[in-house]
Amino acid sequence: MTTEQLRARQQALRAEYEAFCARGLHLDLSRGKPGPDLLCLADGMLDCVSEKTGYLTEGGVDTRNYGVLDGIPEAKRLFADILGVDPDNVLVGGNSSLNLMYDYIATAYAKGVCGHEPWSRQGAVKFLCPVPGYDRHFAITEFFGIEMISVPMTAAGPDMDAVEQAVRDPLVKGMWCIPMYSNPTGITFSDDTVRRLAAMTPAAPDFRIMWDNAYCMHHLYDDRQDHLLNLYREAQACGHEDNLIEFTSTSKISFPGAGIAAVAASPNNLADIKKRLRVETIGYDKINMLRHARYFGDIEGVREQMRRRAQVLRPKFDLVLNTLEEKLGGLEIAAWTKVVGGYFVSVDLLPGCAKKVAALMKDAGIVITGAGATFPYGVDPNDANLRLAPSYPPIEELAVSMELFCLCAELAAVEQRLTEVA
Ligand code: PLP
Repeated sequence: MTTEQLRARQQALRAEYEAFCARGLHLDLSRGKPGPDLLCLADGMLDCVSEKTGYLTEGGVDTRNYGVLDGIPEAKRLFADILGVDPDNVLVGGNSSLNLMYDYIATAYAKGVCGHEPWSRQGAVKFLCPVPGYDRHFAITEFFGIEMISVPMTAAGPDMDAVEQAVRDPLVKGMWCIPMYSNPTGITFSDDTVRRLAAMTPAAPDFRIMWDNAYCMHHLYDDRQDHLLNLYREAQACGHEDNLIEFTSTSKISFPGAGIAAVAASPNNLADIKKRLRVETIGYDKINMLRHARYFGDIEGVREQMRRRAQVLRPKFDLVLNTLEEKLGGLEIAAWTKVVGGYFVSVDLLPGCAKKVAALMKDAGIVITGAGATFPYGVDPNDANLRLAPSYPPIEELAVSMELFCLCAELAAVEQRLTEVA
């Protein structure tokens, strides 16, 4: 475009933008929460454990009482099938996998991993953070003052050359990973990436991959699904199963904040975790475990639930992806993954545009996840990435939000080009 054409386009976009602002919108596209249309799909679970159905596990344990530190067998079996490990490798926790991750890092920091020196006494320890990534992971490592090293995400997962190089440093103690339908990019780690992670021999003996498999069941389409290689099995084949701790939860299968979470780990790691857990709690909420086990029955019950959820989510994701394509496709000002699962769509704008787009949206009454949130310390060095979360708003509101998003993305790009030519 010539400068004149750019100016004309800017004026047209500004006029459209002002019209949006005049509508007095108050919409939220910021957090990856299920909407009420998804939450109601698991309501039946709330009646699964009652006086009528009884409170006992299959083994006769009364779920209303204390006891069973690592979770009831039927819930362990469910997570074992979800994660593709043996029930003996599973510990079922409370209502949040993030909580289990926090506890793991907190314990590693204060007490050490499997008998090693606490990270807090080993100097300036570091963590690898694939970017863009999940802000709440980064918040945990930042909270403990662990230095975060960004590793670029590719379409196949984290840049493995950079990872293999970085783990030669014994102060690098771990790595955050969301291997399937990643938050926010939506990509799934390739088989090669998983094999390289499994084969890795980090210099630190107390290095741990934090394998947050939050979205392993979250396919959007029946005919297009990603497949993730089983890291635990691959690591086991290399004798490296102590190098990882796997996490997941039913937050986006049943109820966020009222689901159940689990850890899958090697016998050494599980023993280490239980040593701490015996001090931390007498046991998690077994009534909720029983509710989940009864409601889903088995992995097929979970798959069925996810198919029903996908029916609600699919039109929302289709709308986001189609609007991006229709409005921004071919303009060479934005790139995004055509996701087939998970909860997010991540958009890379022209460098220097993300903060501006988020601010323009906010001024017009629509909140999106803050620019920078997907990077350690909240700083995106290119100021380019924004995360869209389609799951919560009703589809009409999502449509308005996406119209505005694309408008703001183009406006920011045009104004950026005008400042460059000025
Ligand atoms: N891990 C990832 C990658 C997430 O995106 C989220 C929530 O958005 C969580 C963990 C939180 O899980 P939980 O509710 O089990 O704590």
